[in-house]
Amino acid sequence: MAPSVRASLRDLASRRVDLLVIGGGITGAGVARDAALRGLDVALIDGQDFGAGTSSRSSRLIHGGLRYLEQARLHLVFEALRERRILLRLAPHLVRPVPFVLPVFRGDRVPRWKTALGLTLYDLLAGRGNVRRHRTLGKRALLDLEPLLRERGLTGGALYHDAQCDDARLTIATIRAAAGHGALVANHVAVTGLIRDGARVVGALLRDRITGEDGEARARVVVNATGPWSDRLRRLEDPAALPILRPTKGSHLVVRAARVGNRHAVIFTSPVDGRVMFVLPWGDWTYIGTTDTDTAESPEEVRPTEEDLVYLLRSANALYPGAHLGPEDVVSSWSGLRPLLAAAPASPASDVSREHRILRGSFGMISIAGGKLTTFRRMAAEVVDRVGKELAQPLSLGRRRSEEEPLPGGEAAVSEGFRTPGLELGLSEATVEHLLRQYGGETPAIYTLCRERPALAERLHPEHPAIAAQVVFAARREFAVTAEDVLERRIRLVHETQDRGEKARPVIDRLLRDGGPSSLTDTAPAGR
Ligand SMILES: Cc1cc2nc3c(=O)[nH]c(=O)nc-3n(C[C@H](O)[C@H](O)[C@H](O)COP(=O)(O)OP(=O)(O)OC[C@H]3O[C@@H](n4cnc5c(N)ncnc54)[C@H](O)[C@@H]3O)c2cc1C
Repeated sequence: MAPSVRASLRDLASRRVDLLVIGGGITGAGVARDAALRGLDVALIDGQDFGAGTSSRSSRLIHGGLRYLEQARLHLVFEALRERRILLRLAPHLVRPVPFVLPVFRGDRVPRWKTALGLTLYDLLAGRGNVRRHRTLGKRALLDLEPLLRERGLTGGALYHDAQCDDARLTIATIRAAAGHGALVANHVAVTGLIRDGARVVGALLRDRITGEDGEARARVVVNATGPWSDRLRRLEDPAALPILRPTKGSHLVVRAARVGNRHAVIFTSPVDGRVMFVLPWGDWTYIGTTDTDTAESPEEVRPTEEDLVYLLRSANALYPGAHLGPEDVVSSWSGLRPLLAAAPASPASDVSREHRILRGSFGMISIAGGKLTTFRRMAAEVVDRVGKELAQPLSLGRRRSEEEPLPGGEAAVSEGFRTPGLELGLSEATVEHLLRQYGGETPAIYTLCRERPALAERLHPEHPAIAAQVVFAARREFAVTAEDVLERRIRLVHETQDRGEKARPVIDRLLRDGGPSSLTDTAPAGR
């Protein structure tokens, strides 16, 4: 297995790169991949783990955004649906079609006829790359699909398709792709200051949060892709920089799927306040979201409040009245800050109609703010075009590569041939299915680890199909350094087990420390 090594401070100091990207969420990941694909020498760093910011706390949808239709922002829907099509192709194991049920109740803000019209437009805008055309449904047909929905006031609705994806794994896959094309990448390395040479930012002061050491990185151009932290970085460049973000907080909670009984993803308006919400399937789990509130919390501290959870539970209970969900059903929850653009009256019209903004600071740092998971690839292409201008180097030649090169695991279509060897190793069907969804065409690398050290085929947790080999893979190929990196963003046991994955922690700690499975034997294995 070829290792993907986390760059050390010495590596980062060893050369002046063309481009230093600060922030390893999906935005920075996309920029680093695109720039590396176009032949730039790139370094990417994140002060926490890759994806630990908003990019592991989203609703995990790759979607056109139905709400933009209501606002007649058709170009945004068109763009996002195009990106949906590209991502379904680049990473089919991570980005997967998901059928959505859209129920319409008497008195809803958007009536049935308008819903049908909107979805027809959605299909048209998706064009040839559509997942599947929508169907409008009468009340009975809708209840056949989703029998436990509230019947009272239901008038009918529709079935349409969008896509769902593991946001953190998409981020990490994108960073691996950048590293595969030569980028130096390091998580747990924070920028503590910027280095200026006259009127230009030419690098950053760094602190390795694992070793405690300080260092620096030098670059011809620096990109600030720190999502909800963007204004903080901009103030490091220029203490007088005016904020460009007005972040809002969004929370989700997770319950056992059987407690809700939903068979599909459901998009609905909350009877509590009329906001659009989702009930989303995730294996044995259902997650419900999201809230949307102003907050003064810092991105590091943002957590769901009791009020958030009550709102989400009340909304879901109104949709599934038989569920009677209570706080005791909540297995886990998360909050993220949407890096939304503040209203900018002085911006040109073309800027205002977009979801993201690229701007050059007083000392030449390029900041990319706003955007969403779905459109990261396209945003990245725009940022790298801008970097090309800054470098006075035409980069347009490689622009299409980012829409053609699969992400790691997306190279080969997953077929029966990927299943059989796993089952022959004695892995359960649930584990094999889980592996294929996480690793796609790279699943054989996990099987190889199991063959080399059979103890790695043991489950990590009695409630979850993940196995120990995934920890070794996470450490060797996915830059996992701490147990949290594994539990929260590589295998996500935090959101998919009753005890937030704690039973797996000792094994994960040991595997990360020793890099080998010999120590597994004295920890009660969870079986296969
Ligand atoms: C509740 C919610 C639901 C959402 N749902 C969806 C959805 O379903 N579909 C969709 O398309 N979009 C969705 N979004 C939007 C999407 O998740 C975000 O736009 C996207 O994840 C932002 O990524 P980012 O890389 O810009 O920011 P982040 O992911 O926050 O990354 C910024 C990174 O910068 C790092 N950083 C900060 N300061 C420093 C420093 N000093 N030194 C080094 N590194 C630093 C942080 O550690 C962090 O990892 C949702 C957002 C929220 C909040």
